[in-house]
Amino acid sequence: MTDERRLKIAIQKSGRLSDTSLKLLERAGLQFSRSKDKLFWFGRNLPVDLLLVRDDDIPRLLLEGVCELGIVGENVAAEALLGAAARRPGAALDALASLDFGHCRLMLALPEGQQYTGPEQLEGARIATSYPQLTARWLQENGISADIVELSGAVEIAPSLGTADAIVDLVSTGTTLRANHLKAVDTVLESQAALYRGPSKLDAEQQNLLDKLVQRIQGVQTARETKYVMLHAPRERLARITEVLPGAETPTVLPLEGQPDRVAVHALCTEQVFWEHLEELKQAGASAILVLPVEKMLA
Ligand code: ATP
Ligand code: ZN
Repeated sequence: MTDERRLKIAIQKSGRLSDTSLKLLERAGLQFSRSKDKLFWFGRNLPVDLLLVRDDDIPRLLLEGVCELGIVGENVAAEALLGAAARRPGAALDALASLDFGHCRLMLALPEGQQYTGPEQLEGARIATSYPQLTARWLQENGISADIVELSGAVEIAPSLGTADAIVDLVSTGTTLRANHLKAVDTVLESQAALYRGPSKLDAEQQNLLDKLVQRIQGVQTARETKYVMLHAPRERLARITEVLPGAETPTVLPLEGQPDRVAVHALCTEQVFWEHLEELKQAGASAILVLPVEKMLA
């Protein structure tokens, strides 16, 4: 493929999403020539290159067609899209897959001493946030009119400085809030990292490559949750055993040499396998239970 037709994927250069995003792409079979400081890593085995940028830039790079795929938090994508749609109606990105990392919540927080009775108490209040679009939408959905004080950082100190009565900010553990004598009281948005596709037009060959990549990334995701379970069980308990195996529809049943009443069962479990499942399997008569990770899957 000529240079300008190579696909580009944007991920966060350094931050909470960087390592996991890169690992995901590597597990999907992409190899890059790493260069330490550069924003651009050349794809070695496929015509797919990597852009390493600030997460906030990813939605715009996708919308402008600089790259075709991007991994970014739903919080950042949703905020940028609301802003872009206001300037240019119809601006949109396709969310192709939720990636089950980078989980966080955009939350409303109040000073510790204050009671929270519901969004209506925010009428006329000043709310500091780096997410003015999502905050405005949430207020509007709740029929509240309040002042949004847009800050690009250190949002959590605004109440103690007297520049805001409440904040809307990302929370994962609540430690930062507590250190600033704030408490989270309501959720504006639940977020995780997701794979997005920009609106740029592709020719058939590029589209095939993109579809293949997306399928591989989804395959990596499914494989992560899927386990291969092997066990021995009394033949007459097969129905019960299948019932206990999480997300296993049609296990493979094999004879065991010299043991006519017992069989070996192999099953692909598409849901998480917990210790509790193994204990139940044992109670149902299973023995020699093995749970193996699945590395790749292609449905
Ligand atoms: P950049 O320099 O790329 O702009 P940043 O400071 O905006 O970095 P990070 O703190 O690395 O970004 O967060 C990136 C994303 O990680 C967030 O937008 C969010 O989707 C997710 N995330 C998960 N947990 C948290 C958390 N506790 N606080 C902030 N973001 C979190
Ligand atoms: Zn950022």
